[in-house]
Amino acid sequence: MLQAELKAMDTFNYIVNVIFRSESNGRAPTVVEGCGVKKRMGGQQLFAVMPLPWCPHLPEVRPVPAEGLDSQAPCSTCGDLSENWVCLTCYKVECSRFVNEHMLYHRLETEHNMVLSYSDISVWCYCCDHYVDNAALSEAKNAAHLSKFGEPLPGMG
Ligand SMILES: [Zn+2]
Ligand SMILES: [Zn+2]
Ligand SMILES: [Zn+2]
Repeated sequence: MLQAELKAMDTFNYIVNVIFRSESNGRAPTVVEGCGVKKRMGGQQLFAVMPLPWCPHLPEVRPVPAEGLDSQAPCSTCGDLSENWVCLTCYKVECSRFVNEHMLYHRLETEHNMVLSYSDISVWCYCCDHYVDNAALSEAKNAAHLSKFGEPLPGMG
């Protein structure tokens, strides 16, 4: 297994266990501090390909701008059109790690963690190093889908 997959799985297990444990024993949920928390708490194994149902960085997501999203927008740094992401905090468009890594640089400069792919309308959290899917992301995913395919996400019309 790849190192990145192992790391993602650790983070996932950690977060799932925090949620499940806090629900089952009635104590206040453990606060996830910073990005360095990857301690495995034991418990069930889950597949790393599943998006996280929640992550501590969801509050960074800002409402979609009134003009909506443009899935055809070029990278704001290098102008590449092939594979761009949009930052869900400031809505800047930057290219992927497979082009010139400008979204990764954006994250390093700004610490904005939540980004949406115009390729497959998925949301990645850089801090958790994992895909995330949560109702708080529906507005942005819907706006991206509307721009790319001319219609809202299924069930969002
Ligand atoms: Zn770029
Ligand atoms: Zn940003
Ligand atoms: Zn996160």
